Amino acid sequence: MTSTRVAIVGGGPVGLAAALFASRAGMTPIIIEAKDTDGDKACGEGLMPGVMPLLETLGLDPPGRDLLGVSYRQGTTHVDHLFPGTPGRGVRRTALVEQMRAQADQRGVERIQARVTGLTQDSSGVRLHCAASEDVQADYVLGCDGLHSTIARQLGLVSRPSRRARRYGLRQHFQRAPWNSMIEVYYAGDAELYITPVDDETVGVAVLGPKGINLAETIARVPQVSAELHGALPASTLRGAGPFPYRARRAQVGRVLLVGDAAGYVDAITGEGLRVGFAQAHEAITALHAGNPASYPKRWRKVTREFRVLTRGLVVVASSPLRHAIVPVSSRTPRLFGAIINRLAR
Ligand SMILES: Cc1cc2nc3c(=O)[nH]c(=O)nc-3n(C[C@H](O)[C@H](O)[C@H](O)COP(=O)(O)OP(=O)(O)OC[C@H]3O[C@@H](n4cnc5c(N)ncnc54)[C@H](O)[C@@H]3O)c2cc1C
Repeated sequence: MTSTRVAIVGGGPVGLAAALFASRAGMTPIIIEAKDTDGDKACGEGLMPGVMPLLETLGLDPPGRDLLGVSYRQGTTHVDHLFPGTPGRGVRRTALVEQMRAQADQRGVERIQARVTGLTQDSSGVRLHCAASEDVQADYVLGCDGLHSTIARQLGLVSRPSRRARRYGLRQHFQRAPWNSMIEVYYAGDAELYITPVDDETVGVAVLGPKGINLAETIARVPQVSAELHGALPASTLRGAGPFPYRARRAQVGRVLLVGDAAGYVDAITGEGLRVGFAQAHEAITALHAGNPASYPKRWRKVTREFRVLTRGLVVVASSPLRHAIVPVSSRTPRLFGAIINRLAR
């Protein structure tokens, strides 16, 4: 019997995780990645505690800094929550991708560089059309090609969000020993500033907010962060991402499944993309392994529900006049705040 061939479009963290799950399940994954780069992109790089067991299952232990919790800050008020149990980890995305690629190579997973531009499918398989490269034929396809996915667009699944709601993200690293073992989140005007320690000499700084956000200006608005970063040299190029939210109307059509950001992304406000993306990759491979791709949308809804509901709720509040009350109210209701963080982080 020939092994099931699964073509994975996008070799970001979620595509790589899907390939590793598929390989472990005895399938033959092939990764098609458009870019010949180190995999860097705008990301807060905080792996929540819930990611760690999944990484362990895949034999991964990326280098980084333990993250003990989250500290929300506004002016002189702050509310801290320590993760119960095992810590999360701040990991340079390039280090995570490098380790995942090495693991994929070790398992004999084929990786090719090509940009997928279209697809056709029938009851026996899927054909992927690639720019300046041969077509790829597979039993199933996983669209792991991120925000504003080509695969979702090809399937006619992308719905346009309202212009008013659009948010964007920026990220850059600075050479500076971390000053906190928690992720710090500052509410700075209409933007949020995230500080994540990623190794002993580097902190990642991410900003989320409306169109036109500026990293240097947002840092300048937060005196504590300006002081900590004073004189620190940039350790990476500035990168941007967005707009979000991005929505795909469903997560599966025939033999094609959408996984990770490609299946829909609410916002980075909760730093949950990778945890939820890896969980989707696991569910997608479980569905294919059972020969039942149609079971994936239900599985997808289950593993993404809390992320979607809580993240949407937080974005609504953060985009309303109540924004200024988030940190003060959370500091007066630490148990509720802690319960929300725990649900998102597990
Ligand atoms: C500012 C910001 C901060 C964030 N902070 C965090 C955080 O702290 N913690 C966390 O867990 N998540 C965070 N996220 C979310 C996280 O970055 C994403 O959820 C995660 O990167 C999704 O991974 P992915 O593999 O699905 O997509 P991506 O990482 O976007 O990878 C998609 C891959 O597909 C490739 N590709 C695209 N189109 C094609 C094509 N046509 N053909 C072939 N290949 C293609 C791309 O080159 C890319 O390599 C943040 C996001 C932003 C924007």
